[in-house]
Amino acid sequence: MTTRREFINAIPAVGAAFAVSGTFLAENMAAVAEPASLAPGHFHPKGKAPSKFTREILTKARANLPFEDTRDIQEQRKGLLAQMKDLQIQADAGHVAWDMKRFQFLDEQDEFDSIHPSLVRQSRLNNNYGLYEVIPGVYQVRGFDLSDITFVRGKTGWIVFDPLISAEPVRAAWKLFQEQVGEGLPVSAVIYSHTHGDHWGGVRGLIDEEDVRSGKIPVIAPIDFMQFTISENVYAGNAMNRRLFYQYGLLLPASPYGYVGQGLGQAVSAGATGLIAPTRFVSAAIEEFDVDGIKMIFQNTPNTEAPREMNTYIPSMKALWMAENVVSSLHNIYTLRGAPVRDPLNWSKYIADALYRFGSEAEVMFASHHWPRWGNARIQEILRQQRDLYANMNNQVLHYANQGVTINQVHNVYKLPEGLLKAWHCRGYHGSAENNARGVIQRYLGYWDCNPATLIPLSPADSAPLYVEMMGGSDKILERGRQLHDEGKYLLATEILNKLVQAQPDNGKAKDLLADVFEQLGYQQENPGLRNSFLAAAYELRSGIPQGETSSSSSPDIIRAMSTELFLNFLGIRMDSRKAEGMRFTVNLVTPDNGEMFIIEMDNATLTNIAGFQAEKPDLTLTINRSDLEQTMMGVKSLDAQIADGTAKVDGNVGVLKLLASTMVEFDPRFEIMPGTKARTSTVAKSDPYQASPEKIIAE
Ligand SMILES: [Zn+2]
Repeated sequence: MTTRREFINAIPAVGAAFAVSGTFLAENMAAVAEPASLAPGHFHPKGKAPSKFTREILTKARANLPFEDTRDIQEQRKGLLAQMKDLQIQADAGHVAWDMKRFQFLDEQDEFDSIHPSLVRQSRLNNNYGLYEVIPGVYQVRGFDLSDITFVRGKTGWIVFDPLISAEPVRAAWKLFQEQVGEGLPVSAVIYSHTHGDHWGGVRGLIDEEDVRSGKIPVIAPIDFMQFTISENVYAGNAMNRRLFYQYGLLLPASPYGYVGQGLGQAVSAGATGLIAPTRFVSAAIEEFDVDGIKMIFQNTPNTEAPREMNTYIPSMKALWMAENVVSSLHNIYTLRGAPVRDPLNWSKYIADALYRFGSEAEVMFASHHWPRWGNARIQEILRQQRDLYANMNNQVLHYANQGVTINQVHNVYKLPEGLLKAWHCRGYHGSAENNARGVIQRYLGYWDCNPATLIPLSPADSAPLYVEMMGGSDKILERGRQLHDEGKYLLATEILNKLVQAQPDNGKAKDLLADVFEQLGYQQENPGLRNSFLAAAYELRSGIPQGETSSSSSPDIIRAMSTELFLNFLGIRMDSRKAEGMRFTVNLVTPDNGEMFIIEMDNATLTNIAGFQAEKPDLTLTINRSDLEQTMMGVKSLDAQIADGTAKVDGNVGVLKLLASTMVEFDPRFEIMPGTKARTSTVAKSDPYQASPEKIIAE
């Protein structure tokens, strides 16, 4: 249903079998005479084994990790009622929506010399797969998606927290739950803890919209939930989706040399996604009301892990739900796929608020990822450490910034306090301390380090040829790059090899050597996003960006969640300003069914809109119900067809719509990231000029 999934399935390397991609890999290989596989069992013919330097780094890391603290392992196992037997969950569309088979290798050997031991541990913990009792009356199905689904016993049925990403895993979870402890009782309420897609996308696998509309099943969410569910991902959506190929390693097979999980959970499920709009919003900072006869206290925590999020305390059970504000990982302040930088001080304050408001009484704490914590002392320990984790990052990074440390240095300067590094849940399995530190500076000071040499820098491709010339040409750089590689000085090797690849995108030897360097750096990372990014770049440098058809289909639910203003803003991004030189027109848009009106204006090669106004002498007045406009936003029915059959009424010069359509561009979902990797890309799908294409929900 989602474009990203279809796109990935369209890629031979991932969609069917890796053997398919072998054909183009082999073809690519022909020019460079190298042994077929330099690492036995590696999925890529050019893949390398970890070097002795990499192995040393991982051995040293292993020695310094707090393996004596095994509480996570006990907590992760506690309360297991039933393991899920089927390792795969089928999607209605015929493909596999969820696959735990591919992560079984993690449990099949003790140590890996190509995976950071801390990441191995986290990924093993995320191999949990079944139904768990949190306390009597509270149950979680874990390991069915990136996130957990939670069932709380109400008076008449089950109150569900956060129904995963897609419908098929939710249905499988509900089935397992009902077989064991559900007593055949229905869903009595659904709570979305926050706006990210892995906390609501599977809701249609659980309940019917009619039951929500009739008031039978309340759907509860923090205030402004709908405004923020997709708005975070629309304007830069295509770029974010492309970058997800790096952060989430979407092209990498699960393997000791490839993908080993995502830290928050093993992966993102690939079933059908949808959204049922909430019917009850929590708007006050603290709000208390009964949900299916159970008293709940909601704590709104805006602008923390998500733009809108809330924690929940259930006093009768002494149970504290921390949504995604406190999980078993350092979270993202800066997200590698790209997102507005978050506010760690604000985040820390909300954890402190939860600590003092509920934390002195709570006996169990659970969340939307990972596993619960039992006992008040343990809860307080975790909340205090997580509070300090985000506060320290904010304060100490700014402390350095106030002494002149820049965004280009701070990741090498800032270190988490030793005490926090000894707490497993403070380590970077989703966010990384390095990139979060840069994010804090980005938030307060922006990207510029205040050195005029970086004030108007040349583009990499423009500066690189001079470097290559001054370094004595390609052969010299390759020779030195090889030396640095052989000495294990991978970051230094990256500096010069990247210059060569930027200057000579067709230099296969340079790309291969840079890929080898990236691969070693990837093996060394504790953070899955960093690992995946290095390994994804290595993959694309070696193989090019895979070809294959892409198709597009918008989820009606997601389009409905998009305001008309957001859609019009996005059209302003989709149009190519260079095609609009000299155009000048004004359109009044009226959507009678929801009472909205807009002025849309093209002037100065820029498309703007303003809600609540109408121009006195527009070139065109377009009247169409918002519900009909959605068909056009989804690409189901063109605006021309809407006008032709009278669904849309026009008054004035219809030609301006053609002018506007002529400026629209379809974004390439596979744009080039590493130089010289683009050759094999083909995009086939053509979207309607007025299609909104925001259907790609992003999990976090
Ligand atoms: Zn999440």
